[in-house]
Amino acid sequence: MPAPTPPELVACHDCDLLSPLPHLSEGERARCPRCGSVLFERKGHSLDYSIALALTSLILFVLANVNTLMRMNIGGRVQSGAIISGISELYAQGFWMLAALVLVVTILAPLVKILAILYVLAPIRFHLRAPGAIRVFRLFETLHPWAMTEVYMLGILVAMVKLKDLASLEAGVALYSFAALILVMAATDSSLDDHEIWERLGHLRDKTA
Ligand SMILES: [Zn+2]
Repeated sequence: MPAPTPPELVACHDCDLLSPLPHLSEGERARCPRCGSVLFERKGHSLDYSIALALTSLILFVLANVNTLMRMNIGGRVQSGAIISGISELYAQGFWMLAALVLVVTILAPLVKILAILYVLAPIRFHLRAPGAIRVFRLFETLHPWAMTEVYMLGILVAMVKLKDLASLEAGVALYSFAALILVMAATDSSLDDHEIWERLGHLRDKTA
């Protein structure tokens, strides 16, 4: 008779107690027997839900980047621009480091994050594992703090409030798309069950090995 495999252990984030990982169904959560904090939870949403949210993010991302962010009228001089024109303006003014930072946190990091999650999740949906999916999913988790779209949005709102006496401002389609993108990306993050994805990636590897 083969020896039973030892249960997978999970450490409590608050008190470091090691407990065996229970088998949970969707929507259930396990609590630490010592301090009661949540050890692990199985989110109730399906993979389809996360994929749909990620696809919505991608559409909003495109809308936010191809449309006008805002139109400014300062004493008869009308200026309008997209997100990328703001970045190239910063670069032209000599703030190249700031331009690079804005490019990373508002365009590159969100785009790579959305594409990475679709790359990992869509094949899982069909019981497949995309080449390099484990590395891509790790990249997705690393990029998490870099996609700071909400900070950029806050910057735009502060600038709008400051400029409102000097110029007449008109918000463009991109501004609304960008605001919606922030919400949908947050919803994607919260619907995603990292543990489940890792587990599925592991099983799929075992099957193909
Ligand atoms: Zn604990």
